[in-house]
Amino acid sequence: MQPCVALRQGCAAVMSAQWIDSHCHLDAPEFATDRLDVWARAQAKGVAACVMPAVQAKDFEALQTLAKSIGQPYALGIHPLFVPQATEDDLQTLETKVRDALALNADGQRTDPRLVAVGEIGLDLFVPSLCEPAMLEKQIFFYHAQLKLAKKFKLPVILHVRKSADLLLKGLRRLGSNGGIAHAFNGSFQQAESFVNLGFALGFGGALTFERALQLRRLATDLPLSALVLETDAPDIPPHWLYQTQEQRQSPQGLRQQSRNEPAELAQIGAVLAQFRGLPLQTIADATVQNTLRVLPQLVDLMPA
Ligand SMILES: [Zn+2]
Repeated sequence: MQPCVALRQGCAAVMSAQWIDSHCHLDAPEFATDRLDVWARAQAKGVAACVMPAVQAKDFEALQTLAKSIGQPYALGIHPLFVPQATEDDLQTLETKVRDALALNADGQRTDPRLVAVGEIGLDLFVPSLCEPAMLEKQIFFYHAQLKLAKKFKLPVILHVRKSADLLLKGLRRLGSNGGIAHAFNGSFQQAESFVNLGFALGFGGALTFERALQLRRLATDLPLSALVLETDAPDIPPHWLYQTQEQRQSPQGLRQQSRNEPAELAQIGAVLAQFRGLPLQTIADATVQNTLRVLPQLVDLMPA
């Protein structure tokens, strides 16, 4: 190879860092009118893969269809915010879908290689109605049932952690797991270490970009780089440059509703993390991609060459 070509390719590699959005609800109704454009914009910004977790059984089919059409990974599970309306039949649907996706075809390949985890599952102790005794019990029942299912099929899990880290850790210790991701992590350093010791990476996203998020920024800076993965959680958790205060939303130019987050924001969120850690952007991109592939090993085969 001629030196000038090598140089140019080297520069191109730095310019075009590749990212994985480890948590993005691209199937959400907020993207109904322009889903493919949103994905195209993310790809143009270097997002090589986008992990799409489910939130409820009635969305499983549509999510699988989307994952197939854009060739992206997904997870199946029942989100704690959707537990109130969930039934045991939904758990049966989940098990059937997971079993079918993992079944080997005539070539010895998984029927649907895009299924990479069970998720989004977990516990939400922030929403008051979900903390009432009967509903908390129902949340724990669905969490444990889905942990058992993940273990049975040797899949990692994608966890929703909101004021619930200790209770989630208790379930993981009691029932075991194949690791995964504690998404939108916002706990203590000690809780972070406990998840890491159980084979989990911690998901960081738009919340990091807010100046007031001191504890979260400290975590993202001080934890070992090997513990971190990046996510947008789009359409939720917009970074500060998209965020609209209530006042802005009520102004004549305001959007009336919170701005929609997009997977295309991931690289800029990655740049914020790079700045905190005093590391080159490329190092953050490479490390977070490798970390995501380590905790979601099925994803390795889906990455573009
Ligand atoms: Zn989510």
